[in-house]
Parts: sequence; structure tokens; C-alpha cells
Amino acid sequence: MPSCPNCGTAIATPTKLFTVIVEPKEGERGLTQRKVGMYSCDKCGTKFPTVVSRQHYLLVAEEQLGKIQTDIKNLKKTNQDLEKRIGAMDKEYADLQKVVDRSKRDAETRALESKLEALEKHVAYLRKEKGELEEKASRLR
Ligand SMILES: [Zn+2]
Repeated sequence: MPSCPNCGTAIATPTKLFTVIVEPKEGERGLTQRKVGMYSCDKCGTKFPTVVSRQHYLLVAEEQLGKIQTDIKNLKKTNQDLEKRIGAMDKEYADLQKVVDRSKRDAETRALESKLEALEKHVAYLRKEKGELEEKASRLR
């Protein structure tokens, strides 16, 4: 809320609002639109202006604006394509992970199978031994 430059009283509402366009200074680009409020002090009657808001506008040739808009559209499209490719890669990665897990399990199964085979051979050997021992024992009776 602006206050009176003379007595410091805060004033809520302007008596008048108007818009001014400020042209760029040397080295600046674009225009500035200022909303200016005219205030009148309730206490001492001093009238004073205050800038209420500022909006900066850049001037761009229509052709250039069109090019910028096309560039933005192309960038959005590229971004979408990239997202799609990332999605596909994520899926591919998950599939590969599954294959890796499966082959790991396969390797474990093969190791267990060869252990089992060795055990079976050992059992067969022990059975044979037992058979021979039983034969010897029967002969001793
Ligand atoms: Zn005042």
C-alpha cells in the first residue's frame, strides 16, 4: 500500500489508474508497460503517482516468433521420442534381467544335477560293496 510522501499516511485506493508504455532505453530490449495509480492523501490532500505494476514486453518479429514456436514444438516431439525410447530400454533391461536370472538358475540346476549324479554313482558303489560283503558273510556262515 503506498503512503503519502508528505505525511506518511497509507492510502488504499487510487483515485485514478492509467497505463503508460515506456520505450526502451539505449541497450535495452522491448517495452515496459506500467500501471500507474494516482493517489490523493485523505489527511493532507497531497496528490502523488505510484507505479502499481510493471509488465515487460519483448518485441519479436512475427517470422522469428514463428521459428521459435516451431523449435519448441520440435523439442517437445524430440523429448517425447526420447521418453518412448527410455521406456523401451527399461523394458528391454527388465527382459534381460529375467534372462540372466533364468540362466543363473539353469547353471545352479546343472551344478546340482552333477552333484546328484556323483552321489548316485557313490550310492551304486556302496550298494555293490554291500552286496559283496553280504556274499562274503554268507559264505562264512
Ligand atoms: Zn498526506
